[in-house]
Amino acid sequence: MIKFVDLYHQYQTIKTEIDGAILTTIEQSAFIGGASVKSFEAAFADYQQAAHCVGVANGTDALEIAIEALGFPSGSEIIVPANSFISSAEAVTRCGHRVVFADINPATYTLNLLDVEKRITNNTKAIIAVHLYGHPCDIDGLKVMAAAHNLKLIEDCAQAHGGEYKGRRVGALGDIGAFSFYPGKNLGAYGDGGAIMTNDYNLATRCRMIANHGRIDKYNHLIEGRNSRLDGLQAAILNVKLKHLDGWIDRRNALAQRYYTGLRGIKGLVLPVIDGDVRHAFHLFVVRLDNRNSLKDYLAERAIETGIHYPIALPKLAAYEYLGSKDINFANNIDATLLSLPMGEHVTDSDADNVINAIISFFREV
Ligand SMILES: *Cc1c(COP(=O)(O)O)cnc(C)c1O
Repeated sequence: MIKFVDLYHQYQTIKTEIDGAILTTIEQSAFIGGASVKSFEAAFADYQQAAHCVGVANGTDALEIAIEALGFPSGSEIIVPANSFISSAEAVTRCGHRVVFADINPATYTLNLLDVEKRITNNTKAIIAVHLYGHPCDIDGLKVMAAAHNLKLIEDCAQAHGGEYKGRRVGALGDIGAFSFYPGKNLGAYGDGGAIMTNDYNLATRCRMIANHGRIDKYNHLIEGRNSRLDGLQAAILNVKLKHLDGWIDRRNALAQRYYTGLRGIKGLVLPVIDGDVRHAFHLFVVRLDNRNSLKDYLAERAIETGIHYPIALPKLAAYEYLGSKDINFANNIDATLLSLPMGEHVTDSDADNVINAIISFFREV
């Protein structure tokens, strides 16, 4: 059986460290706040090359709090890629703004800048750059556009921990960035978790206040906020896992190279493209083909698990019917063709070869 994700496999490789970290947290009763939250925030800011990191309860909250902290007038338009997890769009609406979908680039599946530009109006206040599948967006291009139209650039890094654009880690390349530590992400907690990243001290302080009841001291609340905190157990676990992250991402890249070598040249199979001077975080390795469902079934019969990211493009979801975004030519038409292959440090070279050989024989038979 070749699993799509295997969290237990990873746990076994770091069991002693993880068990120790959990036990220490319990012995210290450091469940909310405490040393491990502080040290994780510092270590993760350092890792992502940002000045400030604010731990929050999950990645969706990270986006929501970041947008709230930017303080746009209500009803502002925010541009979101049409292919992403719903959080990228949900956070916009939850903050009282309007989602404007833009199409994605057929090579990298990240924002298509020509399409983004067409959708900017006088009401547009921000762009959410999702580093989808772990491929960093064209940050320089987006920054030029943001500067020209006075827009904020928000990075959704939920799939791109450790990803780099021109030698710089993602997270604080724009105005503010959001991370998720959902268990299956490249850096995953043992429950929910998230973080906000920025180089702007005032923005970081505002996020920290919003996430912790608007307070600066225990019972001194300057504004009304909410409760969205990274808890001590998750931070202790993340502190352990962060030390292994670079090795895991290198392994993901090595596997991707193996897939490229083995799958190159198959007619009808479109491989993902690494575009520009980037370190791809390879959260997912997504291929595209017309008879996607047949290949998915074929692999399942051979005990190979795959995923689909995402089966319904965001503009086509019932939740976004009210927007009527039908003019998204690429993303709206390829959702039935996407297939995510097994990816992660649990996948061995021989697993990858089995996946490759199964795909080759599928294409021979059809
Ligand atoms: C996972 C994910 C999120 C949300 O993170 P949660 O921690 O599950 O709330 C946001 N954006 C993208 C692109 C994601 O993949």
